[in-house]
Amino acid sequence: MALRRARNAHRTTEDPARGHDRAVELRGLRRQYGRGAATVHALRGIDLTLSRGSFTAVMGPSGSGKSTFLQCAAGLDRPTGGTVRLGGTEITGMSENRLTELRRSRLGFVFQAFNLLPSLTVEQNVVLPMRLAGDRPDRRRAAELLARVGLDGKGDRRPGELSGGQQQRVAIARALITNPDVIFADEPTGALDTSTAAEVLALLRDAVDTLGATVVMVTHDPTAAAHADQVLFLADGALVDALTAASPAQIATRMTTLTARPGFARAAA
Ligand code: ADP
Repeated sequence: MALRRARNAHRTTEDPARGHDRAVELRGLRRQYGRGAATVHALRGIDLTLSRGSFTAVMGPSGSGKSTFLQCAAGLDRPTGGTVRLGGTEITGMSENRLTELRRSRLGFVFQAFNLLPSLTVEQNVVLPMRLAGDRPDRRRAAELLARVGLDGKGDRRPGELSGGQQQRVAIARALITNPDVIFADEPTGALDTSTAAEVLALLRDAVDTLGATVVMVTHDPTAAAHADQVLFLADGALVDALTAASPAQIATRMTTLTARPGFARAAA
């Protein structure tokens, strides 16, 4: 409750664009690598709107464009064409400095390899995005978030003293600290065992349900994807299907079709 109040208070002092109910808007998003005959079309024109407070999984066979999608949507890579709006702000064409600033203050990231700084304490890792964004670290909020992810009292530890699952919990607290418009998660459970993975996914789910966070998660694991509200399927750089409130079995079946017959999937889109 305190966190939700803090979140809303934070929002009212920000750019009015943050009140936008569309967390992510992609229009005609294209990314190609190379030129001429060697051109690879990694994204072939993606149109997508994701509302605030939604949890979306992105799946697809290897080489279908998942990483490129995440990188372009998160402002880590520049698309060849089309537009990206995050929390109502168009990021296409932004300078590198402004993009970096936007990523720090308005986006959260959770990676497969946790990406914590080993020399910093857990608490220092959690408040790092605030420091980098030039804000005063809010230690009370860090403590609240650490308690929320089940790490009450662990703020003084170093990442190396924690298990993989605990480190990913720290990364989730870090991703939430700035009340970001979107949290981008890249295979967040790829390095975790099944039960630890389920705990981490439950935390992301909880962040969406109780804090109103917006999560976009790339995964190859149907069980992980089933925690999302919506699963999007990429094949050969195009969004070819979406499942809502799907079971792991339904998602796995759809993936099998894509992997077996990517050409068919594209033709059907
Ligand atoms: P996925 O994450 O689904 O495996 P990627 O987004 O990594 O897919 O790749 C999509 C396509 O773009 C693939 O054909 C891949 O080989 C190609 N690709 C990705 N990055 C580069 C790059 N830097 N240079 C050339 N081709 C690339």
